[in-house]
Amino acid sequence: MNRKKFLKTLAAMPLAAATMKLGDLSKLTDPLEKTERMPVLFLGHGSPMNAIEENEFVAGFRKVGRELPHPKAVLCISAHWETKGTFVTAMQKPRTIHDFGGFPKALFDVQYPVPGSPELAKETRDLVKKTTVGLDESQWGLDHGAWSVIKHLYPKADVPVIQMSLDYSQSPQYHFELARELAALRRKGVLIVGSGNMVHNLRMVAWDRLNDKEYGFDWALEAREKMNSLIRSGDHAPLINFRTQGKAFDLSIPTPEHYLPLLYVLALQEKGESATLFNDRAIAGSLTMTSVRVGEG
Ligand code: ZN
Repeated sequence: MNRKKFLKTLAAMPLAAATMKLGDLSKLTDPLEKTERMPVLFLGHGSPMNAIEENEFVAGFRKVGRELPHPKAVLCISAHWETKGTFVTAMQKPRTIHDFGGFPKALFDVQYPVPGSPELAKETRDLVKKTTVGLDESQWGLDHGAWSVIKHLYPKADVPVIQMSLDYSQSPQYHFELARELAALRRKGVLIVGSGNMVHNLRMVAWDRLNDKEYGFDWALEAREKMNSLIRSGDHAPLINFRTQGKAFDLSIPTPEHYLPLLYVLALQEKGESATLFNDRAIAGSLTMTSVRVGEG
Protein backbone atom coordinates (compact mmCIF):
# COMPACT_ATOMS: atom_id res chain seq x y z
CA MET A 1 0.00 0.00 0.00
CA ASN A 2 1.43 3.41 -0.87
CA ARG A 3 1.36 6.41 1.44
CA LYS A 4 -1.56 8.13 -0.26
CA LYS A 5 -3.69 5.00 -0.23
CA PHE A 6 -2.73 4.37 3.37
CA LEU A 7 -3.79 7.87 4.47
CA LYS A 8 -7.07 7.46 2.61
CA THR A 9 -7.71 4.18 4.39
CA LEU A 10 -6.86 5.82 7.68
CA ALA A 11 -9.31 8.64 7.02
CA ALA A 12 -12.07 6.16 6.25
CA MET A 13 -11.55 4.24 9.47
CA PRO A 14 -13.53 4.71 12.65
CA LEU A 15 -11.68 6.60 15.39
CA ALA A 16 -10.94 3.55 17.50
CA ALA A 17 -9.14 1.85 14.65
CA ALA A 18 -7.30 5.05 13.74
CA THR A 19 -5.74 5.22 17.18
CA MET A 20 -4.19 1.74 16.88
CA LYS A 21 -0.57 1.42 17.80
CA LEU A 22 1.97 1.47 15.00
CA GLY A 23 2.62 -2.24 15.51
CA ASP A 24 -0.96 -2.99 14.50
CA LEU A 25 -0.59 -1.42 11.08
CA SER A 26 0.02 -4.76 9.42
CA LYS A 27 -3.58 -5.65 10.20
CA LEU A 28 -4.72 -2.93 7.82
CA THR A 29 -3.05 -4.43 4.78
CA ASP A 30 -4.34 -7.49 3.02
CA PRO A 31 -1.51 -10.05 3.30
CA LEU A 32 -2.75 -11.67 0.10
CA GLU A 33 -3.35 -8.70 -2.17
CA LYS A 34 -3.49 -9.08 -5.94
CA THR A 35 -0.39 -10.13 -7.91
CA GLU A 36 0.48 -11.44 -11.35
CA ARG A 37 -0.75 -14.98 -12.04
CA MET A 38 1.59 -17.44 -10.36
CA PRO A 39 2.57 -20.64 -12.17
CA VAL A 40 1.43 -24.00 -10.76
CA LEU A 41 3.67 -27.02 -10.18
CA PHE A 42 3.32 -30.76 -10.04
CA LEU A 43 6.43 -32.23 -8.44
CA GLY A 44 7.34 -35.92 -8.69
CA HIS A 45 8.77 -36.39 -5.18
CA GLY A 46 10.00 -40.01 -5.36
CA SER A 47 12.07 -41.28 -2.45
CA PRO A 48 12.14 -39.26 0.78
CA MET A 49 15.95 -39.44 0.42
CA ASN A 50 15.64 -36.72 -2.21
CA ALA A 51 15.33 -34.39 0.78
CA ILE A 52 19.02 -34.87 1.60
CA GLU A 53 20.63 -36.30 -1.53
CA GLU A 54 22.23 -34.42 -4.39
CA ASN A 55 20.88 -35.62 -7.74
CA GLU A 56 19.40 -34.34 -10.97
CA PHE A 57 15.87 -34.26 -9.55
CA VAL A 58 16.88 -32.05 -6.66
CA ALA A 59 18.73 -29.84 -9.17
CA GLY A 60 15.49 -29.64 -11.17
CA PHE A 61 13.51 -28.54 -8.09
CA ARG A 62 16.11 -25.89 -7.26
CA LYS A 63 16.12 -24.58 -10.81
CA VAL A 64 12.36 -24.15 -10.97
CA GLY A 65 12.44 -22.50 -7.52
CA ARG A 66 14.91 -19.92 -8.85
CA GLU A 67 12.97 -19.30 -12.05
CA LEU A 68 9.52 -18.69 -10.58
CA PRO A 69 8.38 -15.36 -9.18
CA HIS A 70 8.90 -15.42 -5.41
CA PRO A 71 5.57 -16.47 -3.88
CA LYS A 72 3.96 -15.05 -0.76
CA ALA A 73 2.95 -18.54 0.31
CA VAL A 74 2.74 -22.13 -0.91
CA LEU A 75 -0.37 -24.31 -0.88
CA CYS A 76 0.64 -27.95 -1.24
CA ILE A 77 -1.58 -30.91 -2.10
CA SER A 78 0.49 -33.94 -1.10
CA ALA A 79 -0.10 -37.61 -1.82
CA HIS A 80 0.67 -38.29 1.82
CA TRP A 81 -2.26 -36.54 3.47
CA GLU A 82 -5.51 -38.39 2.85
CA THR A 83 -8.60 -37.70 4.92
CA LYS A 84 -12.37 -38.16 4.87
CA GLY A 85 -13.46 -34.68 3.90
CA THR A 86 -11.09 -31.85 3.00
CA PHE A 87 -8.84 -30.03 5.45
CA VAL A 88 -6.20 -27.32 5.30
CA THR A 89 -3.43 -26.87 7.83
CA ALA A 90 -4.03 -23.69 9.79
CA MET A 91 -1.31 -23.67 12.44
CA GLN A 92 1.26 -20.89 12.83
CA LYS A 93 4.16 -23.32 12.96
CA PRO A 94 3.58 -26.60 11.11
CA ARG A 95 5.76 -29.44 12.39
CA THR A 96 8.00 -31.43 10.06
CA ILE A 97 6.42 -34.89 9.91
CA HIS A 98 8.73 -37.85 9.25
CA ASP A 99 6.04 -40.12 7.84
CA PHE A 100 8.22 -43.03 6.73
CA GLY A 101 10.33 -45.80 8.19
CA GLY A 102 13.59 -47.57 7.45
CA PHE A 103 15.62 -44.52 6.41
CA PRO A 104 18.86 -43.18 7.89
CA LYS A 105 18.83 -40.98 10.97
CA ALA A 106 20.04 -38.03 8.90
CA LEU A 107 16.65 -37.97 7.19
CA PHE A 108 14.78 -38.05 10.50
CA ASP A 109 16.95 -35.16 11.67
CA VAL A 110 15.73 -32.88 8.87
CA GLN A 111 13.56 -30.02 10.00
CA TYR A 112 11.92 -27.56 7.64
CA PRO A 113 10.87 -24.76 9.98
CA VAL A 114 8.65 -22.69 7.68
CA PRO A 115 5.80 -20.66 9.09
CA GLY A 116 2.24 -21.69 8.33
CA SER A 117 -0.42 -19.20 7.29
CA PRO A 118 -3.71 -19.35 9.16
CA GLU A 119 -4.82 -16.40 6.96
CA LEU A 120 -4.29 -18.35 3.76
CA ALA A 121 -5.95 -21.39 5.33
CA LYS A 122 -9.08 -19.34 6.06
CA GLU A 123 -9.00 -17.72 2.64
CA THR A 124 -8.77 -21.16 1.03
CA ARG A 125 -11.66 -22.44 3.14
CA ASP A 126 -13.78 -19.44 2.12
CA LEU A 127 -12.99 -19.89 -1.58
CA VAL A 128 -14.11 -23.50 -1.81
CA LYS A 129 -17.83 -23.91 -2.37
CA LYS A 130 -17.85 -27.59 -3.30
CA THR A 131 -17.39 -28.79 0.24
CA THR A 132 -16.86 -27.52 3.76
CA VAL A 133 -13.13 -27.28 4.25
CA GLY A 134 -12.01 -27.94 7.82
CA LEU A 135 -9.22 -25.93 9.47
CA ASP A 136 -6.63 -28.19 11.06
CA GLU A 137 -4.98 -26.15 13.79
CA SER A 138 -3.10 -28.88 15.62
CA GLN A 139 -3.04 -32.32 13.96
CA TRP A 140 -1.06 -32.40 10.73
CA GLY A 141 1.85 -30.17 9.73
CA LEU A 142 4.09 -30.81 6.72
CA ASP A 143 4.47 -34.40 5.52
CA HIS A 144 7.45 -35.48 3.45
CA GLY A 145 5.46 -35.10 0.21
CA ALA A 146 5.56 -31.38 0.99
CA TRP A 147 8.80 -30.65 2.83
CA SER A 148 11.14 -33.02 0.96
CA VAL A 149 10.56 -31.04 -2.25
CA ILE A 150 9.59 -27.54 -1.08
CA LYS A 151 12.83 -27.31 0.92
CA HIS A 152 14.69 -27.37 -2.40
CA LEU A 153 12.49 -24.64 -3.88
CA TYR A 154 12.89 -22.39 -0.83
CA PRO A 155 15.93 -23.52 1.15
CA LYS A 156 15.81 -20.49 3.42
CA ALA A 157 12.44 -21.70 4.77
CA ASP A 158 11.11 -18.17 4.40
CA VAL A 159 7.92 -18.84 2.43
CA PRO A 160 4.89 -19.88 4.52
CA VAL A 161 3.46 -23.29 3.56
CA ILE A 162 0.03 -24.77 4.10
CA GLN A 163 -1.26 -28.17 2.99
CA MET A 164 -4.65 -29.24 1.69
CA SER A 165 -5.68 -32.86 2.21
CA LEU A 166 -6.98 -35.33 -0.37
CA ASP A 167 -10.46 -36.64 0.37
CA TYR A 168 -10.02 -40.37 -0.26
CA SER A 169 -13.77 -40.91 -0.63
CA GLN A 170 -14.09 -38.73 -3.72
CA SER A 171 -13.79 -39.33 -7.47
CA PRO A 172 -11.05 -37.93 -9.74
CA GLN A 173 -13.64 -35.64 -11.36
CA TYR A 174 -14.52 -34.26 -7.92
CA HIS A 175 -10.87 -33.49 -7.18
CA PHE A 176 -10.52 -31.76 -10.56
CA GLU A 177 -13.57 -29.58 -9.89
CA LEU A 178 -12.48 -28.77 -6.35
CA ALA A 179 -9.06 -27.71 -7.62
CA ARG A 180 -10.63 -25.24 -10.05
CA GLU A 181 -12.06 -23.33 -7.11
CA LEU A 182 -8.53 -22.51 -5.97
CA ALA A 183 -7.80 -20.50 -9.14
CA ALA A 184 -8.09 -17.08 -7.48
CA LEU A 185 -5.15 -17.88 -5.18
CA ARG A 186 -2.79 -17.79 -8.16
CA ARG A 187 -3.40 -14.04 -8.42
CA LYS A 188 -2.70 -13.54 -4.76
CA GLY A 189 0.92 -14.63 -4.90
CA VAL A 190 0.21 -18.22 -3.88
CA LEU A 191 2.22 -21.00 -5.49
CA ILE A 192 0.04 -24.13 -5.68
CA VAL A 193 2.10 -27.32 -5.66
CA GLY A 194 0.80 -30.85 -6.25
CA SER A 195 3.27 -33.43 -4.93
CA GLY A 196 3.08 -37.10 -5.93
CA ASN A 197 4.29 -39.34 -8.74
CA MET A 198 2.36 -39.98 -11.94
CA VAL A 199 3.63 -43.55 -12.27
CA HIS A 200 3.94 -45.02 -8.77
CA ASN A 201 3.75 -48.75 -8.11
CA LEU A 202 5.81 -49.61 -5.04
CA ARG A 203 4.87 -53.30 -5.18
CA MET A 204 6.66 -53.65 -8.50
CA VAL A 205 9.82 -51.68 -7.77
CA ALA A 206 12.90 -53.21 -9.45
CA TRP A 207 15.06 -53.25 -6.32
CA ASP A 208 18.08 -54.44 -8.30
CA ARG A 209 17.86 -51.40 -10.59
CA LEU A 210 17.56 -48.72 -7.92
CA ASN A 211 20.92 -47.20 -8.80
CA ASP A 212 20.29 -46.98 -12.53
CA LYS A 213 20.02 -43.41 -13.74
CA GLU A 214 16.97 -44.37 -15.78
CA TYR A 215 14.97 -47.59 -15.83
CA GLY A 216 11.28 -48.11 -16.52
CA PHE A 217 9.24 -51.24 -17.24
CA ASP A 218 7.50 -51.23 -20.63
CA TRP A 219 4.12 -50.45 -19.10
CA ALA A 220 5.60 -47.58 -17.05
CA LEU A 221 7.21 -46.07 -20.15
CA GLU A 222 4.02 -46.53 -22.14
CA ALA A 223 1.94 -44.78 -19.46
CA ARG A 224 4.53 -42.01 -19.15
CA GLU A 225 4.47 -41.34 -22.90
CA LYS A 226 0.70 -41.21 -22.98
CA MET A 227 0.43 -39.03 -19.89
CA ASN A 228 3.10 -36.63 -21.16
CA SER A 229 1.44 -36.32 -24.53
CA LEU A 230 -1.99 -35.64 -22.99
CA ILE A 231 -0.49 -33.04 -20.64
CA ARG A 232 1.39 -31.32 -23.44
CA SER A 233 -1.74 -31.12 -25.59
CA GLY A 234 -3.98 -30.01 -22.72
CA ASP A 235 -6.26 -33.03 -23.22
CA HIS A 236 -7.35 -33.48 -19.61
CA ALA A 237 -10.45 -35.70 -19.95
CA PRO A 238 -8.53 -38.99 -20.44
CA LEU A 239 -6.24 -38.03 -17.55
CA ILE A 240 -9.23 -37.48 -15.26
CA ASN A 241 -10.75 -40.76 -16.47
CA PHE A 242 -7.49 -42.64 -15.92
CA ARG A 243 -9.33 -45.81 -14.93
CA THR A 244 -10.55 -46.26 -18.49
CA GLN A 245 -7.11 -45.89 -20.13
CA GLY A 246 -6.06 -49.52 -20.09
CA LYS A 247 -3.54 -51.80 -18.46
CA ALA A 248 -0.48 -49.53 -18.51
CA PHE A 249 -2.37 -46.87 -16.57
CA ASP A 250 -3.83 -49.46 -14.16
CA LEU A 251 -0.35 -50.77 -13.34
CA SER A 252 1.01 -47.23 -13.03
CA ILE A 253 -1.76 -46.03 -10.73
CA PRO A 254 -2.62 -48.99 -8.45
CA THR A 255 -3.92 -46.50 -5.87
CA PRO A 256 -4.81 -42.91 -6.79
CA GLU A 257 -3.15 -40.81 -4.05
CA HIS A 258 0.16 -40.18 -5.85
CA TYR A 259 -1.62 -39.38 -9.11
CA LEU A 260 -4.45 -37.11 -7.89
CA PRO A 261 -2.19 -34.12 -7.06
CA LEU A 262 -1.51 -33.94 -10.83
CA LEU A 263 -5.22 -33.33 -11.44
CA TYR A 264 -5.16 -30.37 -9.04
CA VAL A 265 -2.40 -28.81 -11.12
CA LEU A 266 -3.99 -29.49 -14.52
CA ALA A 267 -7.34 -28.15 -13.31
CA LEU A 268 -5.66 -24.79 -12.74
CA GLN A 269 -4.29 -24.51 -16.26
CA GLU A 270 -6.04 -21.60 -17.93
CA LYS A 271 -6.68 -20.99 -21.64
CA GLY A 272 -3.49 -20.30 -23.54
CA GLU A 273 -1.22 -21.39 -20.70
CA SER A 274 1.63 -23.78 -21.42
CA ALA A 275 2.39 -26.99 -19.53
CA THR A 276 6.07 -27.94 -19.62
CA LEU A 277 7.71 -31.07 -18.25
CA PHE A 278 10.93 -31.43 -16.28
CA ASN A 279 12.66 -34.18 -14.27
CA ASP A 280 11.04 -36.47 -16.83
CA ARG A 281 12.67 -39.81 -15.98
CA ALA A 282 11.46 -43.30 -15.13
CA ILE A 283 13.38 -44.90 -12.25
CA ALA A 284 13.39 -48.24 -10.44
CA GLY A 285 11.09 -49.76 -13.08
CA SER A 286 7.79 -48.60 -11.68
CA LEU A 287 8.16 -44.90 -10.82
CA THR A 288 8.39 -41.68 -12.80
CA MET A 289 9.76 -38.42 -11.49
CA THR A 290 8.09 -36.40 -14.25
CA SER A 291 7.15 -32.94 -13.00
CA VAL A 292 4.98 -30.28 -14.62
CA ARG A 293 5.06 -26.53 -14.65
CA VAL A 294 1.89 -24.75 -15.72
CA GLY A 295 2.28 -21.13 -16.77
CA GLU A 296 5.31 -19.08 -17.71
CA GLY A 297 5.87 -16.93 -14.65
ZN1 ZN B 1 5.24 -40.43 -1.90
